[in-house]
Amino acid sequence: METTFRHVAAQKHIALVAHDHCKEDLINWCQKNVHHLQNHQLYATGTTGHLIEKATELKINSLLSGPMGGDQQLGALIAENKIDVMIFFWDPMNAVPHDPDVKALLRIAAVWNIPHAMNIASADLLINSLLINREIELRIPDYQTYLQKRLK
Ligand code: PGA
Repeated sequence: METTFRHVAAQKHIALVAHDHCKEDLINWCQKNVHHLQNHQLYATGTTGHLIEKATELKINSLLSGPMGGDQQLGALIAENKIDVMIFFWDPMNAVPHDPDVKALLRIAAVWNIPHAMNIASADLLINSLLINREIELRIPDYQTYLQKRLK
């Protein structure tokens, strides 16, 4: 498929997700980076979002809990270009019941080319990037052109 560009404002829509054994790491990371995160619109799967709100001053748009459909809600938001960045601490050491949803979420983040960090080191680099507070262009699939060609 051909590609096009999507304009992303300086204020990003950032999704935060952590599996149960990784939630403490993400909460600590959010506390450490509250001064960065407070400049952006934040989204999270249900349990993650409520725990971050409890531990910080951050305002989070919490979706359903991941295993109850929250990962799929987030994937839909990514496909609609409503999420610009994802921090997802998935658990490499324990199986989760909603593994297909996790794979789908990671796949759709790759399809729509959103910057996504899956561990603390990557999340640190991402949040400290100069681009996090600047307007950027993301290269994305050009679905409209694809559709027009298919309908000819
Ligand atoms: P949770 O979901 O924040 O509701 O625990 C996370 C996930 O497993 O995707």
